[in-house]
Amino acid sequence: MCGIVGIYDAGGVSFSLYHALYALQHRGQESAGITTFDGGRIHKHKGQGLISEAFDEETLRSLEGIVGVGHVRYPTSGANLPENIQPFNFRFREHFFAIAHNGNLVNAKALRENYEANGEIFSTTSDTEVIASTFVQEFKRSSNVLDSIVHCMRTLQGSYSVVMMVDGCLYAFRDPMGIKPFCLGKTESGYIVASESVAVDALRGELIRDVRPGELLQIDAQGIRSRQIAIAKRKAHCIFEFIYFARADSVLEGKLVYDVRRRIGEHLYEEAKVKADLVSPVPDSGTSIAIGYSHRSGIPYLEALMKNRYMGRTFIKSSQREREMAVRIKLNPIKQHIRGRSVVLVDDSIVRGTTSGRIVNLMKEEGASEVHVRIGSPPIIAPCYLGVDMPTREELIASDKGVEKVREHIAATTLHHISLAALVDAIGIQIEDLCTGCLTSHYPVQIEGESCAQRSVDIVGGTYQTKLLEAKGA
Ligand code: AMP
Repeated sequence: MCGIVGIYDAGGVSFSLYHALYALQHRGQESAGITTFDGGRIHKHKGQGLISEAFDEETLRSLEGIVGVGHVRYPTSGANLPENIQPFNFRFREHFFAIAHNGNLVNAKALRENYEANGEIFSTTSDTEVIASTFVQEFKRSSNVLDSIVHCMRTLQGSYSVVMMVDGCLYAFRDPMGIKPFCLGKTESGYIVASESVAVDALRGELIRDVRPGELLQIDAQGIRSRQIAIAKRKAHCIFEFIYFARADSVLEGKLVYDVRRRIGEHLYEEAKVKADLVSPVPDSGTSIAIGYSHRSGIPYLEALMKNRYMGRTFIKSSQREREMAVRIKLNPIKQHIRGRSVVLVDDSIVRGTTSGRIVNLMKEEGASEVHVRIGSPPIIAPCYLGVDMPTREELIASDKGVEKVREHIAATTLHHISLAALVDAIGIQIEDLCTGCLTSHYPVQIEGESCAQRSVDIVGGTYQTKLLEAKGA
């Protein structure tokens, strides 16, 4: 998971980076960091917690410069240690580098072992330092940034959307299959690259397009240039971004996520019709799916649960009573909407089965006559190795239980998951261009012990074309 942003803007970048990261906060709440460059010196700050906890106005004022990168972290690889907070900053020869990464490298361990065997020292446990080391491997030979990024794209396997600042120049590159989202936007006096288009919206900018799979963008005083470094035979956009992870108001691969989720809700009704008194989402992840379900079925949309938006990170709850109270603080059932009624309860996914089980239980405690659970993803049967924080196979309830067993477990009246075909239709991208690893156990890259749809990536390498997208002031 994680959110990344890079901005080049003659008007200064620190407040824009901060606001863009605010818009990406859902992608990571563990820590946040910003690095800027003012033409002579670098400025950086990192902190634990939410972006609003990690930064104050005074700090932001001190982050001078017209170019910078930022990151919000949700750890998928690397422990929760202060040294793992990104951007990862380093100096090499007379140059200064800052890197922020969203994704997960499947060959990070092998690369790290290889580099360590050659005497390299690592100061963090995060994948991002492996990217930096791979970059430096080539850079110390050629002193050429572009060749060093090409070397990274040749060497790194897995998912990576990367923003990189080298002195006063901003680079952005995306893995050849475009697994994690990444977009390019224009602001009043500059450019932004970010994990999701909501970051562009936050700056009142204009979304230009997604960063293309395998593309390298370079943004500096001359304007913006594009190079297609790697070409894969297929794309593999993360299907889970559309289901759950991205914000509903983001546009991914040209699709408004809200619309995708509404269509998921419509398909859910068509696939498993039911008569009921109301349709309610599990807030907030089920909201746009429930709206689609209600719209297609004609069953009124009425919230059966309210989420406490001030619920912070959970604390350790030792007793069963404390755990039950925590659920009630987080989600309060609206008794008046539930009692004696049949409810269609809509959520995006079932992972361990804990949330759905608890909520069905809450509904029944408040007197619901029936609880029909509708889920906007097919059963999640396999782990994610490419950047979404998912539990192991053993912890995934659907990995060894069929739908009927899961229904029994969560004590729902009926349970239906959207079919993969309907989900793909709702997204509107052909299945060959989506990563469905968590739903099918087939991954787009080779992972030890898992099956892989043929990996086929051509690196254009030294013959790549440089295309000037926009010159400065254009
Ligand atoms: P569970 O209780 O383990 O079945 O989790 C299901 C709930 O967690 C759903 O309501 C989802 O919205 C949410 N969810 C799904 N995937 C993730 C994830 N990778 N990280 C955090 N929450 C998730």
